[in-house]
Amino acid sequence: MSQLPKDLLDILACPRCRGPLVVEPVSLRCDACRLRYRVDDGIPVMLVHEAERLDGGDPELDAGTPAVS
Ligand SMILES: [Zn+2]
Repeated sequence: MSQLPKDLLDILACPRCRGPLVVEPVSLRCDACRLRYRVDDGIPVMLVHEAERLDGGDPELDAGTPAVS
């Protein structure tokens, strides 16, 4: 079980919408995008195509239009 340092959490944002993330025990969740980013050995995997869709869909389907260009 890895715990992310607070200063790292402060700079983390969803790579898709740049919104805030909800910290979970082994993942980070974006409620706006309905995506969950996993944390591998304390390293957040902030990749939209690696994220898990909370509603069960394919994250790449919605990833084609970045919120910030
Ligand atoms: Zn997001």
